[in-house]
Amino acid sequence: MIVYLLHFETPLGNPNNPRAMASHYIGWAHDLAGRMRDHRSGHGAALTRAANERGISYQVVATWPGDRALERWIKLRKCAPRLCPICAQAHPLGPFTIHLPVSDLVQVQSYDRVECPF
Ligand SMILES: [Zn+2]
Repeated sequence: MIVYLLHFETPLGNPNNPRAMASHYIGWAHDLAGRMRDHRSGHGAALTRAANERGISYQVVATWPGDRALERWIKLRKCAPRLCPICAQAHPLGPFTIHLPVSDLVQVQSYDRVECPF
């Protein structure tokens, strides 16, 4: 399984509330190419469907081996901007490298206000 990060060319959401804007989508899939076909055809996620409707393009900018636990780990910490090579070109870990201790993946189920460690 693979966890993937999409970067939107233009942020989506409510322009009057920057905190409600989304520039990224994180998902996981068994088959990334198939999942991207779902996104492109409007059967993927609400966010990518909204992007399709507004003509906003998006692309896969990073992938990691992992499943729902890793997806959740990244989502809860709001790490996407730091892990996106377009938004964080000088990322010290490199945009395609992520090392997560297993204990952290387990722990993340029990709380949801956590900081991105990167
Ligand atoms: Zn980005």
